[in-house]
Amino acid sequence: MTTVSVTRYLSTGGVRVYRLPLHVFPWMIGYAYLVLDGAYSALIDVGSGRGTSDADLAAGLASVRDDWGEAIDWAHLSRIVVSHGHIDHYGGLGYVRRHSAAPIAIHVLDRAIIAAYDERHALSVRGMREYLRFAGVVPEQRAHLEQFHGGGRGGYPSIAPEHVLHDGDLLDERFRVIHTPGHCAGHVCLQLDDLLFTADQILPVTAMFLAPERIAPSSGLMHYLASLERLRHVSGVTMALGGHDDPMPDLASAIEHMERDQHRRLERVRHACAVPRTIAEITGAVHPRIRDFNLLLGLQKIGAYVEYLDTRGELRITNPDQLYDDPEAPPRYVLG
Ligand SMILES: [Zn+2]
Ligand SMILES: [Zn+2]
Repeated sequence: MTTVSVTRYLSTGGVRVYRLPLHVFPWMIGYAYLVLDGAYSALIDVGSGRGTSDADLAAGLASVRDDWGEAIDWAHLSRIVVSHGHIDHYGGLGYVRRHSAAPIAIHVLDRAIIAAYDERHALSVRGMREYLRFAGVVPEQRAHLEQFHGGGRGGYPSIAPEHVLHDGDLLDERFRVIHTPGHCAGHVCLQLDDLLFTADQILPVTAMFLAPERIAPSSGLMHYLASLERLRHVSGVTMALGGHDDPMPDLASAIEHMERDQHRRLERVRHACAVPRTIAEITGAVHPRIRDFNLLLGLQKIGAYVEYLDTRGELRITNPDQLYDDPEAPPRYVLG
């Protein structure tokens, strides 16, 4: 059941945009956007495919009327765009594909995530197993945490997108594609007239996920901050529309908020690195109470911050001999 309603926006060019709320996870609302421009219609993101997400998407679409007062027909959708390869944004593709043959577009770096789900998921499970060891998570806890990551096995179909996006593309002569890696390698923002679809790049309320480049190339904090900086130079935006959280009429201050927040979190990691610690120990020091799935997310995010500080020469590793001699030993980082 949808408890939040569809919201309408109008671009300066007269394009109608409908924000469709979806329960992408039981604890999280996400948004898909329906874009109507005369006979053209596009869906940006499709929800998670879990719980009521598909039904919410169908209900949202059913509530919208086209320029002629007719209900939106799935079969006549012109385009599906996936903002990035995270499950709460592409997981509904299987459902949408059953109703619509509209060509799917996703950034080239996230193409394989939807086109070859099983092989990418298997690799990411393998990568996580290795990362948890590198982070210094004890074996019993590793097995426990791996369950949360391995749960998506066989859960989604592989769907080959018809188009891959690159930075600077003008998709369907409407959407300016701005590649914003960091939160996810192939994350894009889309500019349409004075509207900017920011997906998960700017989330003032929802905790923004980051993973280190070690497990997800083109992810991580350095890319994320560079992408924020890019958005600072996008002009003519009067409303930023995210994949979660409220619309943002003041893009510049939303960017500043995100930047400040990242630097505040970095400072906490620096503080935790006053004594030699593994990534798992730093995570425990910064977030002493998180468990289970949230701990798995926290270990990745703290890993991204440690990687950022280490890459910039702010950290030393205190146990090189142990790293030589013991393949299981995690690096210990300290400021200096
Ligand atoms: Zn995301
Ligand atoms: Zn998201």
